[in-house]
This record gives sequence, structure tokens and C-alpha cells, in this order.
Amino acid sequence: MIYKKGKYLNVCGFYLCGIDFYGRANKLYCSQECKQAHNNRKASNVSKAAKGEDLKIRKAISILLDLFNADKEGKFIISTVDLVSKAFPFDLPTGKVKDDRHNEVMNSIGSFCFYQQDGNFIFYKI
Ligand SMILES: [Zn+2]
Repeated sequence: MIYKKGKYLNVCGFYLCGIDFYGRANKLYCSQECKQAHNNRKASNVSKAAKGEDLKIRKAISILLDLFNADKEGKFIISTVDLVSKAFPFDLPTGKVKDDRHNEVMNSIGSFCFYQQDGNFIFYKI
């Protein structure tokens, strides 16, 4: 690290700035503005991503609510092909849930949980 008059040469961590500046060794940004700009950008990326996920989840749940038709055990079996034909968004962020009705951990989405078997999706209501 280059050291001059009690300060270290750093590179500003805001990618649109990126200038060299002298400061404390652990100083990440050349200015308060750059620090804020970096943090704002990070926050807006997160909310953008969350909104995208949110839409997918809502779409998936509305498709499931339409189709869901459980048997006596509360089980609803649907083929992957049928889900594809409904434009079901498969790239969903899912949780994990353990449920007595299936002896392995299942994926969860909204108020549904599911596992895959032989080209089918098996859904339960949580
Ligand atoms: Zn900067």
C-alpha cells in the first residue's frame, strides 16, 4: 500500500468514480457522496430484484390456486408438462419445509409445498 503523510492511497469503491485518493487505510470511498451513491445503488438493486421475484411468486401462486384440486390426502399431483403449458415460472425462490405428509424436505412457495417425482409435481397446502 502506498503511504504518504499519514494517509494511504485507496481507490474509491463507487464504481462510477473509482478515483485514487489518500485517506485512512480502511476508508472505502473518496467522499461522502460516493459512499451514499454506492449504498443507494445497492438498495435499489435489491428492491428491483425482490420485485421481480415477487411477481414470479404471485404468478406461481395464482396458477396453483386455479389448478389446485387435492385428493383425500390433501395431495395434488400435476405433470411438469401441464405446469409448463400454464407458463408456470419454475425459476422461483423457494423455501424448505418439513412436513409429516412426505418423508423428505419439501420446497415451499407461499402457502404451498411441493416435491417432484417421475415428471410430476406433488403439491400440498401448508
Ligand atoms: Zn469516489
